[in-house]
Amino acid sequence: MEGTCNCGAVKVNVNDSELFSKRRGHICHCQNCRKTAGSAYGSNLLVETEKVTITGEDNLSVYKDFNTLSGNPVSRYFCKTCGNPIKSMTDLYAGKSILKLGIFPQIPHPEWESFALKRQEWLVPMEGCAQYKIKSLGEKMDD
Ligand SMILES: [Zn+2]
Ligand SMILES: [Zn+2]
Repeated sequence: MEGTCNCGAVKVNVNDSELFSKRRGHICHCQNCRKTAGSAYGSNLLVETEKVTITGEDNLSVYKDFNTLSGNPVSRYFCKTCGNPIKSMTDLYAGKSILKLGIFPQIPHPEWESFALKRQEWLVPMEGCAQYKIKSLGEKMDD
């Protein structure tokens, strides 16, 4: 699956055969993902970096975000021409990238929601999605 930023300078290819054969990706309700997405939540895919090929990487700028709810610094990459968010990287998930799914033509059915405690009150939990209170794969809402 290939996605591009708004101006097309950055192209991202994910080499993963299971993107649509099972649930993949997650919704993040943290304030930083909301701001980055410019929306009510972020739509992310946590994936092995080796499965990701980026064309036009020279056109990425990075913002090192220290003010995160999890306390882990996150490097946020975006297209320096059009400002489109592309991916995040954090030591919390070594060897993995967090791709911003909005750049792709189709978004897989999400597998989980993170920072569910921060979900907007008018949103409901997505059916069949695991609900993590804070970080992905951390403590669940019903634990
Ligand atoms: Zn761009
Ligand atoms: Zn987030």
